[in-house]
Amino acid sequence: MAEAEFIQVGMRVAVPFGKTKIFTGLVFSIHQEEPTAYKAKEIHQILDDEPIVAVRQLKHWQWIADYYMCSLGDVLRAAIPTAFLLESETLVIKNETFQQEDILNDDEYLIYEALQHQSVLKIQEISKILNKKGVLSVINQLIDKGVVVLKEEIFQQYKPKLIKYIRLNEEYKNQESLSQLLENLTRAKKQREVILSYFSFQAQTQKPVKLKTLKEVSNASSAIINVLVEKDIFEVYTIQTDRILFDKETNGLKELSVEQNTALAQIDKSFKKFDVSLFHGITSSGKTEIYAHLIQKALDEKKQVLYLLPEIALTTQIISRLQVFFGDRISVFHSKYSINERVEVWNNLLHTKSKAQIILGARSSVLLPFSNLGLIIVDEEHETSFKQFDPSPRYHARDAAIVLAKIHQAKVLLGSATPSVESFYNTQQKKYGYIKLDRRFGNVLLPEVELVDIKEKHRKKRMNGHFSDRLLTLIQEALENKEQVILFQNRRGYSPIVECTTCGVAPQCPNCDVSLTFHKYRNELRCHYCGYHRSLPKTCPACENPTLDTKGFGTEQIEIELQGLFPEAKIGRMDLDTTRGKYGYQKIITAFQEQEIDILVGTQMLTKGLDFNNVTLVGVLNADNLLNFPDFRAHERSYQLMVQVSGRAGRAKKRGKVAIQTFNPHHQILQQVTTNSYDEMYKDQINERHIFHYPPLIRLVKITLKHKDFTKVNNASEWLGKSLKNNFHENVLGPTSPAVSRIRNLHIKTLLVKLPKNRSIKQSKQIIQNIKNSFQSIGEFRSVRFIVDVDNY
Ligand code: ADP
Ligand code: ZN
Repeated sequence: MAEAEFIQVGMRVAVPFGKTKIFTGLVFSIHQEEPTAYKAKEIHQILDDEPIVAVRQLKHWQWIADYYMCSLGDVLRAAIPTAFLLESETLVIKNETFQQEDILNDDEYLIYEALQHQSVLKIQEISKILNKKGVLSVINQLIDKGVVVLKEEIFQQYKPKLIKYIRLNEEYKNQESLSQLLENLTRAKKQREVILSYFSFQAQTQKPVKLKTLKEVSNASSAIINVLVEKDIFEVYTIQTDRILFDKETNGLKELSVEQNTALAQIDKSFKKFDVSLFHGITSSGKTEIYAHLIQKALDEKKQVLYLLPEIALTTQIISRLQVFFGDRISVFHSKYSINERVEVWNNLLHTKSKAQIILGARSSVLLPFSNLGLIIVDEEHETSFKQFDPSPRYHARDAAIVLAKIHQAKVLLGSATPSVESFYNTQQKKYGYIKLDRRFGNVLLPEVELVDIKEKHRKKRMNGHFSDRLLTLIQEALENKEQVILFQNRRGYSPIVECTTCGVAPQCPNCDVSLTFHKYRNELRCHYCGYHRSLPKTCPACENPTLDTKGFGTEQIEIELQGLFPEAKIGRMDLDTTRGKYGYQKIITAFQEQEIDILVGTQMLTKGLDFNNVTLVGVLNADNLLNFPDFRAHERSYQLMVQVSGRAGRAKKRGKVAIQTFNPHHQILQQVTTNSYDEMYKDQINERHIFHYPPLIRLVKITLKHKDFTKVNNASEWLGKSLKNNFHENVLGPTSPAVSRIRNLHIKTLLVKLPKNRSIKQSKQIIQNIKNSFQSIGEFRSVRFIVDVDNY
């Protein structure tokens, strides 16, 4: 058959399912063995002239499926843009900008015409119009020619509103030339007044001056200001582009400092010896600049580069910094970008186009069709958001990246100021290379960390709400100096719990086993697991007394307290609630950068690699609720969070200050944060992991069972626990009910299997897989959801 000669691994094919349905499949292997379990059907049609998935890519997907114990189909769905997987349900709409009717063949024209009358077409309808079954290739052509697009929600890239600012030309910065200028303008009275207004306003606020504000305070017309701009006395700029203008002189990569150059040389050397190297550079040591040099090197060798970030939404800062150097050789890849953008990146990579030499992306970009990968940078490698929790494949992008690099014989650089215990462990085991940079760029000192004992402060009545007198003084000082403040509180909402002071009952979510959180702004109670919400009841639902009271505190309450304490200050809040909107994050970040916000209150989101140069004070409202989190990683996490959030202080000229409020100032982690003792923290943590058998010394597989019927899930978990213990003995923990044991009306049971060291991981996973198969063959348990999560930490 001609088709058999033509078909290649990685091509799409249309395959029949049932009587009428047609799905797109991918050729995974070509062989001659007839399946025994089912009757093979004929392929309907081969959809591609050449493969759209690379062979090495499939090899990587196969590794993910094996390692994370999921199906290859799960990986495929996570990897491939939906435009590649047309199926019966796909909806096609016309592309409004298409005009060149003359390039269409007959079939294409029929569809084009149909779309002039009907806004949406299903694949089956197209099949009817053309009176044939194999229409997927026609639709693919229509997509390629830009005639149609698939219906979807499109996520647009955020374009910040560019506010115009004005400043005096450099030339007039010195007193002499300024006096000269003012003298020259004695006749142009109005122009002179504008300049004087500019000065007095600037002296007063010490902030960049908006064009609009200057007009207001000087009472001048646009025309007059324009004249001054034309004369090059004033310059108009926007903060966003301004960032880029800084690099105008360097015209390319920044020159590295002596220490940075040393680190770069060490990385080069480490690359010769190790496949993976860990770059431990403290906050603001200039890691990004060093990455840029490494990227340049890889490009010079005509290699592709993958730059992995924990969360794209938060990192427009890095994107624009790298774009300065690499321009349109960078493609940003994000699962929320439009299908068309994603297809474009995909094809550019597959065909080694220069537009996709550098891919900047979150997790899912490790699944892309790299053709010639030379370097992977995993920035903020310690971040937990690299692990996908739901849905399957539950992969860790850092670890998957290391395997991807191996397949391509590329190098991996893991970067962090606070490396994960497992990566540092790997350097100790000599599996990874290690490079340390412990000096901030420009020799700015690390911030000074001060622990504020709030037990003592409470006793001495020196607390004002959640603020100690010490923290208030520091905030006051920063505000007086026109500097900005970041306050960290790891809970959102007003107060996590509303409790009745008469009977002690806290209102619960009806769908989940968790107390509702009070949100004052809306005066409602919300569930942070399922989104359930109701207005705050006037009386206790249990005893009906009007004695509901708030306990604990969240970001919203801090914001409100601050407003009362500093009525003049502009206060912003960054947490899941305020960043939910389309451009939520960027709006707040931009406002903070442009110094429209004096104090920013927020959750962990604040810690992620942001670079604000006017922040001199960081406050942590309560360190104890981080430290007391019931998880074997709580201490490691607390250390990372506090060091990272502290790293936002004093990045530019002045040494920053960090104040951490705690009931436990002697806690070893807080001492380690204060003295910046990563090595000590590591030693303590690895010791504990040794003693209690936790990763990285063993591997964990977590199994979660869910069902709406408690008895059923309970029985199922008992059965599973027994089967697992028969094989893994004392290495099985559970079954247990997690802290939140019911979510969205499903009861939850979990089991942990610690994969023993004396048996191969592969073999252990095979045993778990076999147990899962037996479990699912028991009729009573068939409807219980069985979720396997490998390396869940
Ligand atoms: P890190 O990622 O290690 O926290 P960054 O790369 O964000 O640090 O650098 C901190 C700041 O110092 C940034 O504003 C950056 O532009 C600046 N910087 C770092 N290295 C250099 C350099 N070699 N030349 C000029 N500026 C630099
Ligand atoms: Zn709920």
